[in-house]
Amino acid sequence: MIASKQYLSIPELMAWPWLVHGFGLAGFSLEELKKAPELSPFQPVVMKQLHSGRVFFLEAAPEEKLAGDGLVTASAGLLLIVKTADCLPVFLVDPENRAVAAIHCGWRSTLEKILVSACGLLRTKCGSRPENLRAALGPCIEQKCYEVGPEVRESFSAAGFEPARIFAPTMNKNKFYLDLREANRLLLTAEIGLQPGNIYELGLCTFCSNDLYSYRRDRQTERRLVNFIGIKEPG
Ligand SMILES: [Zn+2]
Repeated sequence: MIASKQYLSIPELMAWPWLVHGFGLAGFSLEELKKAPELSPFQPVVMKQLHSGRVFFLEAAPEEKLAGDGLVTASAGLLLIVKTADCLPVFLVDPENRAVAAIHCGWRSTLEKILVSACGLLRTKCGSRPENLRAALGPCIEQKCYEVGPEVRESFSAAGFEPARIFAPTMNKNKFYLDLREANRLLLTAEIGLQPGNIYELGLCTFCSNDLYSYRRDRQTERRLVNFIGIKEPG
């Protein structure tokens, strides 16, 4: 993990000079992003996020704001953005075909297996092979801080997730701790076919870190961390 003042980066992804990415820290707003010299050549693409399973493939910047939770592109110059405050931001990179994705993985989108849809688009539109994909999992609310009700556990169980892998008991027998990161890691490895060694993680909890925004901690509906990934224009 390498920290600037504004966002966190994953060293393995920094190895590709054609790629930019970052997991935003508190205070790094969309306005700050547009002012950052390394990002100013890019056209930011921001969605109206829905907590859905919807992913879009972009060849150019959309004319109107898209409503969904994932973006995929192989076009240089676009900066794919997902905003989070406790949900898990995930980037996918196909170094072979130079394609990227940014996905907003809250529990509802995880239940919808949004990463499976994103990898499906990477495969059909860009020719990506799962065994070559890299995934970067950003900061999110961690299991020990993320209590959910029995209906969430039942929904995951019905969707084919093994509850014992992603839920832990709490003191209250009607509440469970959900491991959002592990649920998505399982999708990446068991369902999609990424190699475990190609999954990079920032082991940071939004609820525990004052450098990050947490919806559950702050009760602030407006504040979001800005996470971005894009392919640089050649030259
Ligand atoms: Zn925590």
